[in-house]
Amino acid sequence: MIMRMGTQGRLQLTLALIKPDVTRVPYVFEAIKQRIIDEQFLVVRSKEVRLRQKQTEKFYEEHRGKFFYNRLVTFMASGPTQALILAHEDAIKRWREVMGPTKVYRTKYEAPDTIRGTYGLTDTRNATHGSDAEDTATQETKFFFPEFCRKTWYEKEEPAFRRGQVIFHKKEFVHRISASSQEQWW
Ligand code: ADP
Ligand code: MG
Repeated sequence: MIMRMGTQGRLQLTLALIKPDVTRVPYVFEAIKQRIIDEQFLVVRSKEVRLRQKQTEKFYEEHRGKFFYNRLVTFMASGPTQALILAHEDAIKRWREVMGPTKVYRTKYEAPDTIRGTYGLTDTRNATHGSDAEDTATQETKFFFPEFCRKTWYEKEEPAFRRGQVIFHKKEFVHRISASSQEQWW
């Protein structure tokens, strides 16, 4: 259990996925989770999902018809995916920077220290996903976490998360508001 420093601005949320190429290799999976924590992201929700092909087709609908679409949706249905809601002051942009560019073959040379540059296998099997804008972050969060209420989270949890009054639960890979900080509200 580790405390984290607070931040100044309002936290932004993004949807991150750790894709099936990673979840099947335990040491890579652990290294990427550690990188998320090292980069000061807060993990608001975390869940393992096993997507069926129909769901992956829907999630990647914008790419239907592209040459890589079939291999992408088959790959995403090939094993477990870890879905995460990450919080950070600039979560959407920052997570995409930490992931690195989409195309692994080029990224290995141009941004070798990024997650995709380090752990990506091919342009399709590129380790992680991150939402690319506010509206897609909201939509994609709903897709994976239909039970998550953004508005309630911002009202009830964001202030404590922003102040760093959270504890990291390593096994569940999630941050939760610490009991001692909740006591202040009684
Ligand atoms: P990103 O995941 O960086 O937002 P895109 O939305 O363009 O990238 O593509 C979605 C996913 O489709 C990528 O993460 C990757 O798995 C796959 N993909 C994209 N472009 C290619 C390509 N040229 N060749 C093979 N797979 C690709
Ligand atoms: Mg994309």
